[in-house]
Amino acid sequence: MPAHRSLVTGANRGLGLEFCRQLLARGERVVAACRQPGRAHALNQLAGDHPGRLHLLPLDVADAKSRAALVAELPLVCDGLDLLVNNAGVLHSGERFGAVPAANLDDSLHTNATGPFLLSQALAPLLADGAKVANLSSRWGSIAELEAFRTPSYAISKAAQNMASALLAHGLRERGIVVLALNPGWVQTEMGGAGAPLSATQAVASLLQVIDAATLADSGRFLDHDGQSLPW
Ligand code: NDP
Repeated sequence: MPAHRSLVTGANRGLGLEFCRQLLARGERVVAACRQPGRAHALNQLAGDHPGRLHLLPLDVADAKSRAALVAELPLVCDGLDLLVNNAGVLHSGERFGAVPAANLDDSLHTNATGPFLLSQALAPLLADGAKVANLSSRWGSIAELEAFRTPSYAISKAAQNMASALLAHGLRERGIVVLALNPGWVQTEMGGAGAPLSATQAVASLLQVIDAATLADSGRFLDHDGQSLPW
């Protein structure tokens, strides 16, 4: 059987880098997309360790030209995709009611919601029938769990991303493609901080189990890293 082919966005650090590591360790082929591949030292090291199985491509997911360039270049390094991990994300912390900057909202919406939606739509022809799309979401995007005024640019964008995931699930269902909104838990990355309870290794191992186990019946669901349903 040919190796499973994955594309991971925001692959240069944090959860994205760990997805690349674990997918490569399983013998898979990975396209790692990040803003500055030339500066992605850990990824370039991984590429050297796995000759021919890891390709780096530039991607700013918030930028239309960059997305179009990635979609045009992908077929040169990969003949299709079995898994798309929309992992790239941004969190502008420290927002207070009365002073939430418009720029934070714009950046978060483009990076966390509309960019990944448009990228998935543009990559749809390259997704194999029966492929999976994993969108890294957050409990902070859950309206049902909202308890406080917390980082509106992030929360609004993740709620919008959740709707994008549900819509993509409908759009891709007839091709047997499974789309999931996944909460990784609170994880030790630059975004999560050193005090988070989960390591990136643990979080990605759990998320890959959830992705592997998901069937078409799960498409369009919002799932925690242990596979349990989360409220929208
Ligand atoms: P990090 O901040 O550690 O990494 C974010 C990644 O996204 C970096 O690779 C960054 O690249 C990339 N990125 C940001 N903006 C863009 C852009 N415009 N185009 C391309 N890449 C971009 O975050 P995590 O690894 O912790 O988070 C990964 C995902 O998991 C995110 O979607 C996040 O919202 C989600 N998540 C994380 C949680 C946690 O506790 N860590 C909790 C809940 C959800 P660059 O180096 O160029 O900035």
